[in-house]
Amino acid sequence: ANALSDEEALRAAPVQLRARLSANENPFGPSEQAKQAITESLTSCYQYPMQARDLIQKIADYEGLKPENIMLDAGSSPMLLAAAVHFGQRGAIITGDPSYADLPRKAEKFKAPIVAVPLTADYKLDLDAMEKKLDSRTALVYICNPNNPTGTVLDTAKLKAFAARVSKKTPVFVDEAYIDYLPDPRDSSLLEAVKQGQNVLVARTFSKLYGFAGLRVGYLVAQPEMIKTLSQYAVGPMSISAPAIRAAVVSYQDQAFTQDVLKKTLASKQFLYDVLKREGYEYIPSSANFVMFPLKMDGKRFVEEMGKRGVSIRNWEFNNQHWCRVSIGRMDEMQAFAEAFTQVS
Ligand code: PLP
Repeated sequence: ANALSDEEALRAAPVQLRARLSANENPFGPSEQAKQAITESLTSCYQYPMQARDLIQKIADYEGLKPENIMLDAGSSPMLLAAAVHFGQRGAIITGDPSYADLPRKAEKFKAPIVAVPLTADYKLDLDAMEKKLDSRTALVYICNPNNPTGTVLDTAKLKAFAARVSKKTPVFVDEAYIDYLPDPRDSSLLEAVKQGQNVLVARTFSKLYGFAGLRVGYLVAQPEMIKTLSQYAVGPMSISAPAIRAAVVSYQDQAFTQDVLKKTLASKQFLYDVLKREGYEYIPSSANFVMFPLKMDGKRFVEEMGKRGVSIRNWEFNNQHWCRVSIGRMDEMQAFAEAFTQVS
């Protein structure tokens, strides 16, 4: 549904940005401890990054997984690519519309048919409709939860029941890039399904809540055989720099830091909601660090006009409607958005 990738949108944005609200980054990270770990690790940067095992073990211990369940790479994009290469050669990919398009787009390059299923009336992934699309040619079901770009989250019990049923027929890939923004990430996650032995793949990233988008650390959790299979299509931990791995080790589950990020994100989000309400706009209540709202003008023109005022955001078109997605930034960035929005809308 979306025309540009995050990267393309930022490249097209004006150089002098006052507010960078187009790539769902987290400007409240990385943590001070992460930055310190990076600085301290610089002197040993002549060595290859061998600490990946520490990070894998830390994640395994916290989540009750085995290291064989975990594959580490430079962000979760490599996992999406590995899955696209592997499953894209085997059959069709079922996904939401709109949803995060990276995996389906890459799978398309391998001739995979893409079955894009419209969202429900409340802008959630339509699990029932997606399940109905399953047939003998389906190679993978891709579920982005919370969903990008709508910010909606699925009912946990419903998703778990869906995964338990569907994964008996076809692998279910759950992209949990934004799961850390939920009040109960552990309860909402599908990691439990992996632990139960289901054919479920869960992608996670440090790019969002931990503020690592530029550092590049992510992981995939799946059955050991699946991890082995997909590892064929990825470089693995050797593609992550040693400072980034060290920073991830000290950041992981640093509750003081993550609670602070959540608090600031919520304050900026509330500010944005208030601005939209004041200007007479609706919005989709968001469970992530971005908010989608329907525009009253052409989306492309809106992006251009906001860009002229130093604010980068993204536009979408679906349900015969132009939409804007605003990433949650620092308060000064949200104020810059409000100022520009008042002029443009
Ligand atoms: N998955 C979703 C849903 C995303 O929105 C993004 C990036 O915005 C990614 C995956 C990829 O992020 P990264 O490669 O930084 O982990």
